Amino acid sequence: MYNPKSKIADEFISHEEILETLKYADENKNNFKLIDEILEKAKEAKGLTHREASVLLACEDDERNEEIFKLAKKIKQDYYGNRIVLFAPLYLSNYCVNGCVYCPYHAKNTHIPRKKLTQEEIKKEVIALQDMGHKRLAIEAGEDPVNNPIEYILDSIKTIYSIKHKNGAIRRVNVNIAATTVENYRKLHEAGIGTYILFQETYNKESYEKLHPTGPKHNYNYHTEAMDRAMEGGIDDVGLGVLYGLESYRYEFAGILMHAEHLEAVYGVGPHTISVPRIKKADDIDPSTFDNGIDDDTFAKIVACIRIAVPYTGMIVSTRESESCRARLLELGISQISGGSKTSVGGYYEPMPEKDDSAQFDVSDRRPLDEVLRWLMQLGYLPSFCTACYGSGRTGDRFMEICKKQQIHNFCHPNAIMTLKEYLEDYASPETKEVGEKLIAKELETLTGVKNTVEENLVKIEHGERNFKF
Ligand code: SAM
Repeated sequence: MYNPKSKIADEFISHEEILETLKYADENKNNFKLIDEILEKAKEAKGLTHREASVLLACEDDERNEEIFKLAKKIKQDYYGNRIVLFAPLYLSNYCVNGCVYCPYHAKNTHIPRKKLTQEEIKKEVIALQDMGHKRLAIEAGEDPVNNPIEYILDSIKTIYSIKHKNGAIRRVNVNIAATTVENYRKLHEAGIGTYILFQETYNKESYEKLHPTGPKHNYNYHTEAMDRAMEGGIDDVGLGVLYGLESYRYEFAGILMHAEHLEAVYGVGPHTISVPRIKKADDIDPSTFDNGIDDDTFAKIVACIRIAVPYTGMIVSTRESESCRARLLELGISQISGGSKTSVGGYYEPMPEKDDSAQFDVSDRRPLDEVLRWLMQLGYLPSFCTACYGSGRTGDRFMEICKKQQIHNFCHPNAIMTLKEYLEDYASPETKEVGEKLIAKELETLTGVKNTVEENLVKIEHGERNFKF
């Protein structure tokens, strides 16, 4: 009984519908007439259904795959221009009562030191992050009602927003914590969070239950219906993701698009972001024990097909991926990346010796933020620390409306330039500053109506004023 409007997990993520979709995609993977029709529809950049997008993902024809990649690049350019938003994860606590078999935080792991930051330690972490230049964080914590209750998360958010160190400020705190109640989502909303992010890990219920054998996360329906409760609690920006490697990628691809369709059908607004994590080596975790690992080419195809299927949804890739892999994915649709990340609790102000590492997983891209920024600019991207939409109440359907009309350039582009200028003034190395100033001069030429105002603001930024936005 597939029903995108239902609020019951098994109905909006129907196993039967996914199996039917995979069958349909297999039957049509060489149906060039159908594939060409889907590509024509995709060119309108209004998105595709999970069935249509699954056919593109299954397509094995080189020529058409080339077209898929080309189209993904075009949609990326049309909707996001050359801007890339930067953020960093902040691990608050690795105490966890769940038994997730792919995660080193699982309750039975006795090797990793357990750690929970005090509010004083959070201050130190945030100052270290501000000194790198970050303005946007994603806070992460294991699920543990005793050690990490909602009050702890709320206190931590308050602490983070309150820290004003030199010219620094964290202006948007996204939250990645376990599925919780409507009441708790309301509290998070009232605390002023940006996006609520929760990875589904896998949409396959049977696998999900095996991969989460113990703890509250075992409950598939409660986990899958979390975004509905978040929306009910007033959070209108939600971020989806699956952990690639756990289940068949084609199953997950259809599942995540059905989840997006469900949110759109019920709340009139799709997911704000989709993350694409792949499983990594970690303490107690060997990724090769999972059968569904995907290679870089398949990964690129998934990113391209997501870009085409949901053009207005931001896409995130973390430092789990290497520099070269990230470079390839950026072109195909990624709009946000993390930089200079530490996945251990307290890792920013006090890097731990490796043997005591409380890290969640190995990071591939270990470059400092300044180097990531310079690299982005050398590739032709405009790094952005902008949080203006959030600060101006442009969230949920208000954001999506602007985005769907391709108007985000009018706001995002000048905001990206101004926040980059702040970075260059406050944090950049001389080398990065030189590359950045040249880029800003070039980008200014692309502005139309607001060019004069932006130029005036850039001078004000040089004189110490901060936080200009459209
Ligand atoms: N505790 C929260 C929850 O229960 O959803 C989420 C926080 S967890 C710190 C963030 C994400 O990291 C998880 O949702 C999972 O997808 C991912 N993760 C866990 N183990 C991983 C591994 N070995 N490699 C890559 N990503 C992993």
